[in-house]
Amino acid sequence: MLIFIISTLVFVVAAIGVGRWVIVPRIKRQRILASYDVCPPWLLPELPKELDKVVKVGSRTRDNKSYAVNFYRLSCNCRRFRHSRSHYPPNDIHRLCRHLRQELDTSNVILRYDELTRRIIKDRVRDKFYRKMTLLGTEMAFGFHPESDFIRVFTRRRQANDPAEGPFTGIYDKFTFNADQDIWIHGESPPGAEAIVKTIYESVVRSTPNNERVKV
Ligand SMILES: [Zn+2]
Repeated sequence: MLIFIISTLVFVVAAIGVGRWVIVPRIKRQRILASYDVCPPWLLPELPKELDKVVKVGSRTRDNKSYAVNFYRLSCNCRRFRHSRSHYPPNDIHRLCRHLRQELDTSNVILRYDELTRRIIKDRVRDKFYRKMTLLGTEMAFGFHPESDFIRVFTRRRQANDPAEGPFTGIYDKFTFNADQDIWIHGESPPGAEAIVKTIYESVVRSTPNNERVKV
């Protein structure tokens, strides 16, 4: 009887372990790979092999806590990374947890990435998808989630001598558009806003103002 109870317990614990550590991560990974059909991944350039080492990062919220990050592998031992960001394939920008982002910045390793990527990282990599496009001669990115009306546009500001139709040469900044209400948040629109809004409705959210949303 005792042997039966023990073997049942061992079986249950093993089953939970397999589910949690093998099956769930595999399902999450497959979902991410399937989502690449909606929008290709935003891949970071691979960093040099010499950065394949563990760096300790202090927690900003808890004094005595520290985390171990690795730039080459884009990995961290924090909870958020283990449960979510680690399921993204190598070099996907979504692997960057708060600690990786913090240490990339502190160590200036972030300067190895292009300006547009750096601006997305500064925004904490909050969007499910980042679609890169060239509009008005300017490379920009649209951050969005298929079920959200908010689209973050990462594009350059206009410098005094830039033509109205682009290209724009100022620093990269973030502008947020509400596709349901057809407005820019805080009333701040990016240079070339008209063409950008048209692209948002045609290619990013595939919706029109006040019409029913068509999910991508
Ligand atoms: Zn972390």
